[in-house]
Amino acid sequence: MADKFKTAIELDRPREECGVVAVYASDEGAARAVFFGLFALQHRGQESAGIVSSDGSVLKRHVQMGLVGQAFREEDLSLLTGHMAIGHTRYSTTGSSNIRNAQPFVTSGINGELALAHNGNVINAFDLRKQAEERWDCTFTSGTDSEVMAFLLANAPGKNWEQRIAYLMRNLQGAYSTVVQTKDAIMGFKDPLGVRPLCLGQWPDGGWIIASESCALDHLGATYIRELEAGETVLINKEGVHSFVWSGTTSKRAMCVFELIYFSRPDSLIRGNLVYKTRRAMGAKLAQEHPADADLVIGIPDSANAAAVGYAQEAGLPFSDGLVKNRYVGRTFIAPDQKLRELDVQLKFNPLPEVLSGKRLVVVDDSIVRGTTTPRVISLLKRAGATEIHMRVCAPPIKWTCHFGVDLATRAELIAANNTIEEIRKKIGVDTLGYLSLRGLLDVVDRPQQGFCDACFSGKYPMPVQLEMDKLLMERAE
Ligand code: SF4
Repeated sequence: MADKFKTAIELDRPREECGVVAVYASDEGAARAVFFGLFALQHRGQESAGIVSSDGSVLKRHVQMGLVGQAFREEDLSLLTGHMAIGHTRYSTTGSSNIRNAQPFVTSGINGELALAHNGNVINAFDLRKQAEERWDCTFTSGTDSEVMAFLLANAPGKNWEQRIAYLMRNLQGAYSTVVQTKDAIMGFKDPLGVRPLCLGQWPDGGWIIASESCALDHLGATYIRELEAGETVLINKEGVHSFVWSGTTSKRAMCVFELIYFSRPDSLIRGNLVYKTRRAMGAKLAQEHPADADLVIGIPDSANAAAVGYAQEAGLPFSDGLVKNRYVGRTFIAPDQKLRELDVQLKFNPLPEVLSGKRLVVVDDSIVRGTTTPRVISLLKRAGATEIHMRVCAPPIKWTCHFGVDLATRAELIAANNTIEEIRKKIGVDTLGYLSLRGLLDVVDRPQQGFCDACFSGKYPMPVQLEMDKLLMERAE
């Protein structure tokens, strides 16, 4: 979705990366299962959606701009025949929001025809694309890293998929939780640092599903089996399920800690733990670090609600809804005019004055990115009668950009990269402001020391990155 269609509040959030699903079904309904799986992952990307299916001999593709429900009609799904399918819902982190960049990509090479979709960001994709153009004299049709991955895999040397994926992993740098459809198999694999989530599930009738998050398995009646390991590939074909781990995978892990703070759905399991419970524990830690003399705790809906409940319980304060969220604004292709843009926050949130009036509030949010909309939310709460506002943020200050599949903002736009906490407090207009410390966050999520990426807070990237990143680099070079 182009930025002009987004409200300012949408632009002031960490932008989700992508969601992927792959299904090996016991019947011909794989594409339909993928469609509903993508529905469950809609929060991970709202710009375009696509599915590629296979009946064992032919790949069929449908991609379209928009939400999953907008991208497919009944007749589109009925053409996607076969017992295997992969799907993708996209937020653009490499390449513009454009139909030619919609995934999955289908390509062919010495290893036959395949389709690929991924969640993450391959930071050396531009160099790999130039090398491929020189070596194979090929032409790419999109400006994405995913098409480069698909091409390299379709042309990778090796006698089997284990050797070909090893070739790919040797060459790629970055984050990539990926699904692949060949004519007779589906595959899912994760980069050797395990930055983005990817899990495996099974249906009682013997069918298999691989998805970004376990909430997709739950909605489809599949049982969660496990998270894929970093550097692991799961290949499913008529012989069964095969797993192999790339030999270059080290013990270093860098799972995105923001998945736990904001991106993943609270009903998903990450590393076997329910995200909702983790967020409540973060809220409790926040209450220990930054107590407040207040009457009531509210969360900015929906992503901060679990942390707000955890804060309230730890602080011994009541919790209540204070803002009702209109979930569908910003999910439209109708651009708001200037007058409506100014009403941006009201388009999204409606306060409950009877709950808020006369109250000293603790307001819990999951993060502050640019800080452009927080003051407007605060004035909405004050207009509804709140007498004091104590802002509590369930993440450390965001000071660095992300290079692994999340669109945060440039460093110049990040409020915490350019202001002290006291300056931010004044800018957003609250009585007190407290952020969860990085140590506190890691105490909650990193037990027992499993290895997370926290680079947007600490500046310590798990691999070397070029700090000024251009997501349209490959398109500009055309
Ligand atoms: S930099 Fe931040 S958002 Fe990006 S992968 Fe690391 S923790 Fe996640």
